[in-house]
Amino acid sequence: MGERIAVLGAGPMGLAAAYQLAKDGHTPVLFEADSRVGGMAATFDFSGLTIERYYHFHCTSDLALLQMLDELGLTRKMHWTPTKMGYWYQNRLHPWGTPLALFKFDGLDLIAKIRYGLHVLLAVQRTDWKALDHLHALPWVKRWVGKSAYQVLWKRLFEHKFHEQAKHLSAAWLWSRIHRLGRSQMLGYLDGGSDVLLRAMTARITAGGGIISLKTPISKVVIADGAVKGVESHGIFEPFDKVISTIPLPFVPQIMPDLPEPILNAYKGLKNIAVVCVIVKLKRALTDKFWVNINDPDIDIPALIEYSNLRPLDDQHVVYAPFYLPSDHPQYQDSDAVFVDKVRRYLKRICPGLHDSDFLDIRASRYSHAQPVCTPDYLSTLPPVALPIKGLWVADTSCYYPADRGMSESIDFGREMARGGGV
Ligand SMILES: Cc1cc2nc3c(=O)[nH]c(=O)nc-3n(C[C@H](O)[C@H](O)[C@H](O)COP(=O)(O)OP(=O)(O)OC[C@H]3O[C@@H](n4cnc5c(N)ncnc54)[C@H](O)[C@@H]3O)c2cc1C
Repeated sequence: MGERIAVLGAGPMGLAAAYQLAKDGHTPVLFEADSRVGGMAATFDFSGLTIERYYHFHCTSDLALLQMLDELGLTRKMHWTPTKMGYWYQNRLHPWGTPLALFKFDGLDLIAKIRYGLHVLLAVQRTDWKALDHLHALPWVKRWVGKSAYQVLWKRLFEHKFHEQAKHLSAAWLWSRIHRLGRSQMLGYLDGGSDVLLRAMTARITAGGGIISLKTPISKVVIADGAVKGVESHGIFEPFDKVISTIPLPFVPQIMPDLPEPILNAYKGLKNIAVVCVIVKLKRALTDKFWVNINDPDIDIPALIEYSNLRPLDDQHVVYAPFYLPSDHPQYQDSDAVFVDKVRRYLKRICPGLHDSDFLDIRASRYSHAQPVCTPDYLSTLPPVALPIKGLWVADTSCYYPADRGMSESIDFGREMARGGGV
């Protein structure tokens, strides 16, 4: 007999859990705080273009995503394409991302280039991450690439993405990012963007008898006598024997205050970075690159992502500029206008031929828990996904460490929780 099971959060992980539950004959009831599904992968109407609030690309190793597309009959929507990278350094856009580009890069001597290249090459070839699990990322990188390559190529990327938290990052987490990208000869995009996948998953869930309740933030998971009793939203209690939570782990203590103290403390100790991501629609292309890393003392973002150089958008040119900030950082309190003005300036600096009249539209979106800070031996700091409470499973993007947050990883994890978690 199928069961009625609550799933909290309708990002890719929650949708995948609900999809699997419906497939297995259960009735998932999905509760989502936002007015739309998708979480970090959600889309919006950008003056007539349905597009992700945050840039999304895919790698050939994203097997769970490819499997889901296959099951939904969407494989033909996935396109793989070679892309170009750049590095903005010393007021110039350098080609990047190939051995030849590294060889020609004039910001480093030959030894530094060899050390940098060797580090990337060996990280891509490496498959066993266990030896890196207890190491910190910064000393690991510095030891391999040396002082000058670290200063020129890595330092600002760490600082602009993780700020003070950079020194706490795990080497295994960083390795997994280099490994995933380095193995993918081409990058992928979905024709129609993530929206196509989110819609198809939503349709399958509802066709299978599942319910998706938007604008329904869960304020409490009711626990008594060591078991789940149900959930509360807008002051209304709904009984459930089983709950799968996919909301960011730092929110868990607020909505599950009756968990044992050591578990609450473990969640309270977790760190996340927020993002303010500016998206720009231009009349003309900024560069011919998809991804441009940035090392410039006057530009406080780690990269620019010219998304239309990955996914063709019918003569529309779209660029993302992500500002990663801890949510308690004073700059995170700045208004959207402050970030938008900065991005106008940065783009005009990188492309001096760009004029105000070339900016067709520009917006900012915020996500308070955009990037978990995964520390060494990270999994040992997390409570188990199947909590010692009957009927309660709790996870977020950090639970598939050392892999970085990703749609494919969240889909895989969501389905596994639904399948194997005793549900
Ligand atoms: C800037 C940026 C760029 C990215 N680029 C890529 C990329 O190129 N490729 C890629 O694969 N991935 C990328 N990702 C990551 C990808 O989007 C995430 O891994 C994925 O969306 C995570 O899905 P999730 O369901 O695990 O979590 P989330 O997407 O965070 O979903 C959690 C959901 O829980 C909801 N929620 C929170 N609190 C409550 C509550 N109390 N009650 C009910 N619901 C609640 C939230 O509203 C949200 O919808 C990117 C992310 C960001 C921020």
